[in-house]
Amino acid sequence: MASASPIIGFDEFAAYLNKIFKITLSDIKILIREFHTEMQKGLTGYESSLKMIPSYVDRPNGKEKGQYIALDLGGTNFRVLSVELDGRGNASVTAVSKFAIDIADMQGTAEQLFGFIANCIHQFIEENQLDKRIQYDLAFTFSFPVDQTNIAAGKLLVWTKGFTAKGVEGEDVIVLLNEALKKKDIHCIRVAALANDTVGTLVARSYKDPSCDLGVILGTGTNACYPEKLVNIQKWRGLDPKGHMIINMEWGNFNKLRLTNYDKDLDLASPNTGAQFLEKMVSGMYLGEITRLVVQDMIHRGLIFLGSKCTAFEKKGSLLTENMSLVAEDNSANLGEVEFFLKSKGITNITAHDKNILKHVCDLVSTRAAKISGGSIAAVLSWMDPELKNKHTVGIDGSLFEKYPGFARKIKATCKDVFGENALNIEIVHAKDGSGKGAAIIAAVAAQSEK
Ligand code: ADP
Ligand code: MG
Repeated sequence: MASASPIIGFDEFAAYLNKIFKITLSDIKILIREFHTEMQKGLTGYESSLKMIPSYVDRPNGKEKGQYIALDLGGTNFRVLSVELDGRGNASVTAVSKFAIDIADMQGTAEQLFGFIANCIHQFIEENQLDKRIQYDLAFTFSFPVDQTNIAAGKLLVWTKGFTAKGVEGEDVIVLLNEALKKKDIHCIRVAALANDTVGTLVARSYKDPSCDLGVILGTGTNACYPEKLVNIQKWRGLDPKGHMIINMEWGNFNKLRLTNYDKDLDLASPNTGAQFLEKMVSGMYLGEITRLVVQDMIHRGLIFLGSKCTAFEKKGSLLTENMSLVAEDNSANLGEVEFFLKSKGITNITAHDKNILKHVCDLVSTRAAKISGGSIAAVLSWMDPELKNKHTVGIDGSLFEKYPGFARKIKATCKDVFGENALNIEIVHAKDGSGKGAAIIAAVAAQSEK
């Protein structure tokens, strides 16, 4: 529960909310400075909220070719895909199967979770009649913080996004995957690479567009990656000092942001208290919950939904980010979709005033998220190119970016605030399916560098 503050009147409370959720340009400039400090520490190998994990791949050259299999674990669904690369910058998904992940598998044991994955792969092979005499190179997109030690090895550092399966943290997830494949007698798959959705997003876009040098996820969680000069990765010295390697920043864990009481309450009630502060202020898994905590507080203070005895928002998770999108989209003069949604929650006698307040709270929470996202993007771009002299394409994937009304526009506006006219050098694009196509390209890069 947010601790009761002495503010009582509606106007004062509204002003208080505006103040605590506001992000000014000066806040963004501080964020950028703090980001650079944390990036430097992470690259050097010092304690930092940004882990700056080497991915062991560079961007592709567009000539990679062949058929590859990709696994995508890291959010709401698990997917198995077959991807064809034509060697001319085009990647196409030739088959895909989607499987809902049972909460029992997400939160059970390693055997359960990886057994489930192997079963899905088995089903995919059968349904698509893959030729079992061939060895297919596979990339495993595992979108959690991993301490990667080479292209196809890495230990899970810590679960995020609601996963808690026992016996995985601290273990090499490729070993766990190979064990599960063996148990299930699947021999036509060779696990060539460990990837994540963020690196996949950058790789997928840069396969056809060499100016793409920042990959970002804004979905269930949030993260980003970019190609770093090997000489700057002090904690890992590569062979070719002129080369680059993609760095998985794990920026969801950035912890130099000013928290409201609502953020602190959300964090305390989460399974990963004390971690992923940026993610908890920015990503789809959490925006609905922050909004719910604010609305719940306002209900308790008698500032909203006075017409009905309202218990709908008492329960954690009862307001989703998707619901906020719906509220944001509803510009009807009457009560529209919002009334429909609230009625489904048992809230009746809604006034136009209630609707406006709800809309305003959604706007405060989502605008803060978009500005923090934009500021973080500006931080990485200015790290690579302080004067922003070159063209940079930012590939972003995730339903929050794609579907939340105004989210993309606010990210661009934040970059404009930071860089002024030079922001014209930034192109922000929706880069779809990094965890599928991108992973396949990573498998191809990995297979090639092995040869
Ligand atoms: P994932 O991140 O799991 O790979 P997505 O990119 O599709 O998958 O993101 C899913 C998340 O995006 C959901 O958990 C939800 O929080 C958010 N989301 C889904 N639909 C919408 C929407 N219409 N508006 C805003 N956010 C949405
Ligand atoms: Mg995704």
